[in-house]
This record gives sequence, C-alpha cells and structure tokens, in this order.
Amino acid sequence: MVVPPMSLAAAAVPTLSRGTFATGLRCTWCAASFPLVALASCPHCETRGELSALNETLLVEYDLAGLGQVLDRDELARRPAGLWAWHELLPVADPELRQSAGVGGPPLVRLPALRARAGLGDLWAKTEGANPTGSFKDRPVGVATARAVELGARELAVFTSGNVGAALAAVCARLGLPCHVFLLAAAAHTQGGGPLSTDKLAQITAYGAEVLTADGALAALFDLGSRLEHELGWVLLNNFLPYMAEGDKTLAFEICAQLGWDAPDAVVVPLGTGTNLAGMAEGFRQLHALGFIQHVPRMIAAQPVGADSMTVAASSSASVVEPLAAVRPNAAPPLSHRVCSQSAYQAVLASGGAAVSVSDAEILAARAELATCEGILAEAASAAGWAAAKRAAAHGLLDRDSRVAVVLTSHGLKDLTATGVPPVPPTMPVAWPDFIAAYAALEKST
Ligand SMILES: [Zn+2]
Repeated sequence: MVVPPMSLAAAAVPTLSRGTFATGLRCTWCAASFPLVALASCPHCETRGELSALNETLLVEYDLAGLGQVLDRDELARRPAGLWAWHELLPVADPELRQSAGVGGPPLVRLPALRARAGLGDLWAKTEGANPTGSFKDRPVGVATARAVELGARELAVFTSGNVGAALAAVCARLGLPCHVFLLAAAAHTQGGGPLSTDKLAQITAYGAEVLTADGALAALFDLGSRLEHELGWVLLNNFLPYMAEGDKTLAFEICAQLGWDAPDAVVVPLGTGTNLAGMAEGFRQLHALGFIQHVPRMIAAQPVGADSMTVAASSSASVVEPLAAVRPNAAPPLSHRVCSQSAYQAVLASGGAAVSVSDAEILAARAELATCEGILAEAASAAGWAAAKRAAAHGLLDRDSRVAVVLTSHGLKDLTATGVPPVPPTMPVAWPDFIAAYAALEKST
C-alpha cells in the first residue's frame, strides 16, 4: 500500500475554513470516510484485499447543501476563467496557495469537419494543451500541490511518465520549493512501454527541477517513495491522488459553464490512471446535485490497447478493474497504467457510458485528422479521445444526434516527433525561372 507520510498523517489536520466546504475523503467502494490527509488509496479496501493499491477509490466529499446556499452558477460563470475560479468546490482553504500561472480556462472548440465525419449532432474539443505546461495536468497538480503545502510539505517529489512532472516542476518553481521528479519509462500509446521521453526530460529540467529515474517493480518503487518521505522529508505527490481528481473536476465545471450550463450528452476522456475521468464525473455529479445542470453526461473512457484495463473489466462485466499482466515484469511501469481508477470505472458504468480501446494506428490517424482537418495539434496519447469518439460513433455507442465533448488532454508540441522526424525540405533555387522549373520537377516527383 502507499503509506501516507508520517509527518503529515500524524500531524493535526488543519480545519478547512468555510471557504472550501470540503469535509473529508470518501471511499467510493466501501464508503469509509477519512480526514483530508495524504492518502492515495483506501486502507480498509487494501487490508481486505478487495482492491489493488492502484485502484483509486478515494474522492473528496463536500457539504453540498451548504454550497447550494452560497453558490450561484451565473456568478461562477462570470468570474475570470481559471482553476481557482471554483475555489469553494476545491479542498484548499488558504487563499495564498490558490496560485497558478494561468491554469484552466482553455476554450471548448467546435470541430465541424470531424463532427460531419463521425455523423454526430455536435462535437467540441476541450483543448487542454493551452494550459501553461501544455497539458491538463496543471489542474490536478495545482490543487494537489496546494493541499500538500497546506499540510506542511516543503519539498516535493513525484513518480511520473512525464506530464505530471512538468506540471509539478512549474508549480514548485512558482512556490520556490525544491522538486524531484522521477521520470519513468512511458507506456505512452504503445504496447509494452517505451524509452524515457527526451522532450519531457528537457521540459522538466527547464523549470529547474531535479530529474531522476528508477527501474524496479512497482512494490519496490512504493517502498522507495515511503523511504524518501520518512528519511528525507520529501512529500510524494502520488499520495495525493484524491486531490488530483479535484483539479480534474474543474474540467467538468468549465465544459458546462462554456456550454451555458447545457451539459453535453457524452464526454470522451483519454485515460492513463483514470484519475481525470473520476474527477470529471464527480464534477458533473456535484453540478447536478447543485441543480446547475439538468443531466450528467455519459462518460466514455478512451484507452490505448495494451493499457486498457477498464475495457477488459467492462467486457467481462467485472465489478473491479484488475491490473493487466505486466508487459515487462521487471521494469518499472508508469504508475498505474496497468490498472485504472476504480472510481472512474464505476462512474462510467453509473453514467451508462462505455470503455473504448483504440490501437496505436487509430491514435496516430486521429492525431493527423485533428491537425489537418481542425488545426489542432494534440499529443498522441491525447488524440486517443478523438479516436475513441470515432470508434464509439461507428459502433453505435454514441447516438448519431448526440452532443459530444472530447478532452484533448495535452499539446502536440509535447511529442512532435512521435511519428518520426520529417524529411529535410528540398532546397529551392531563388531565381524565378530556376525556381519554377525545380518546383515543377518536384511536383512531378511526388
Ligand atoms: Zn474502501
């Protein structure tokens, strides 16, 4: 299990002011409650052996009745866009910690050409690549880091395959805190993992974080994380998963506000760990409970083949998502890409949604379509959302007249050479007759 840092677990839990309305952590599987401490997974469920340590089940609970008395959806929508515009619905009491360099608020962009191709009623993309470090991870990391600092963290670390590390490095730079990023080999969109991403290494380093890597089985990594906390006083962001889901929740808030509180029929979310889908589903649930939206969207999970534990669980009507067999048993997989959030799985089922697996070829084709048809360049893993939407529409999992929002989780500049380095462009003569002759020859040859 992931052990909460002693210094934080044993410390008196600061009482959150009425500025946030967060009341505690709740397990979506066994309904146990916990205080708002660092806790990655439910100790009760783990002790009983019902769930894996990576089956995320903890979410933050709120006093929704109290929130209903103070929140006005139109006033919320008029606030300057951003992560902390929703601060009453986030678990951070200290206003000084609600800082960001422009996190949140990317537009919801209509995709007319792709809508027509899929035959959908309407289609939008939430372009999360517009966040400061180029991915939606600025949201969960922003909230989780603020909560960690509120609990006393002064030096942070994280195990990541990339984008979380970039987001944490940027936040720590703004807060003036030391940051250690363990960059692990990426599962990316490929089966069986891949090498370290040099693009992500360069980005994280640019923010001044220390970058390390590690190779070992998952249990050994957990043990290392625990020792880092106990021996060195580093605080591991991986133990703040419920607070990361809180940041993801703001995606749901923004989508609804940007559509004038007329929620889409379905939302397609690319999954790694699934924390994002769990958080978004919780956000829609809260808006519905507050009476801000009339229905909750169907949640469609998009997973790459080889890291599609939710699709495997759904196809066998399993009640629990089981970890996929390790592709490389002795290598360190990115945390939890072999199994996804149990809360996310339950949210997909409860919403009448679906889990859709897409191949590498479908993902790369989707990335190309987004770029060439809509002018939106998405990271390959992010383009899985559009690939899954297309597949879902083609197989009747999305009604033809439905209004669908796809979350494009990160920018294509994150992995520009994912499909290889383009050929060197031809050098053209500059004198006109020579140019036009050379250009004619070039056109003929292609
Ligand atoms: Zn539990």
